[in-house]
Amino acid sequence: EAVKRNIPYAYFDTESGVKHAQQLHIARRLDTAIEKQQFELYFQPKMHLKSQTINSCECLIRWFDDGKFVSPAQFIPIAEHSGFILPLGEWILDSAFAQAKKWHQQNLNIRLAINISARQFTQQGFVQSIKQRLAHFNVPAHLIELEITETAIMDDEEFGISVLQALSTLGISLSIDDFGTGYSSLGYLQRFPVNKLKIDQSFVRNMATDTRDQALVLSICQLAKNLGLDIIAEGVEEHAQLEKLKEYNCDLIQGYLLSRPIPANEFEVFLAKGVSF
Ligand code: C2E
Ligand code: CA
Ligand code: CA
Ligand code: CA
Repeated sequence: EAVKRNIPYAYFDTESGVKHAQQLHIARRLDTAIEKQQFELYFQPKMHLKSQTINSCECLIRWFDDGKFVSPAQFIPIAEHSGFILPLGEWILDSAFAQAKKWHQQNLNIRLAINISARQFTQQGFVQSIKQRLAHFNVPAHLIELEITETAIMDDEEFGISVLQALSTLGISLSIDDFGTGYSSLGYLQRFPVNKLKIDQSFVRNMATDTRDQALVLSICQLAKNLGLDIIAEGVEEHAQLEKLKEYNCDLIQGYLLSRPIPANEFEVFLAKGVSF
């Protein structure tokens, strides 16, 4: 607060004014983006370190607004704010389930992890909508994973846990996304019926050189082990990070080292080629 007050108002207003105009522009463009078929799901592989196999991926949305790429880091928060995330979330779920069905029919054993925003997670009927899709697309529950942030769950803890419980009963996998960036209260973890923790990439970024980050990642890995949870590190770009993560008995990795998020057809090519480290 003190820092903000020291900034001249004129500068501050212009800055926030421009930002506001940009957000409004994006919100308006988003409104028609589903009809215009401007969204596409991309897939980023996750590798199981011990077996060196790829049997899951994260679904990441891509928006090409009249061909121009707009980052989800930019438009997802706007969609969350405007409520557009709800119809968009439906679109994402339908696309992910359709792809899961396709790969399952091709006998590719790939689990798809879908990002669920807080607004979606806390919406009435969310669990039912997942249950209906499992039946409608005829996809086995073990091929579906949901990535949920701590913040979404903790918004109303009791309700959040009941939703996790119901989802878990359906047989789908659940992981805590961006772990370590939210509530950082470790006590809650024991109460969450989840399968996996996803270490946020901000901890992974400098872990090859930063001993503090190394200590953090190691203790998160140990914590996960003690709680019987799988652990995945995201944002792995370098071999040095990979080596540390192997040393820490991290279960899975995801990052540019392996592959960027890619369209479904490229993902199939990637799988066919195989990887080894
Ligand atoms: P997230 O869920 O934490 O996703 C991970 C982000 O890290 C993705 O950014 C991914 O492309 C990026 N990433 C993966 N590997 C690396 C790496 O090695 N280095 C670096 N620097 N980055 C890496 P992306 O696709 O731009 O998505 C940003 C955020 O937007 C996501 O963060 C998520 O919060 C949101 N998002 C993306 N797709 C969806 C979606 O389908 N639904 C919802 N609700 N949110 C989404
Ligand atoms: Ca995610
Ligand atoms: Ca994440
Ligand atoms: Ca993130």
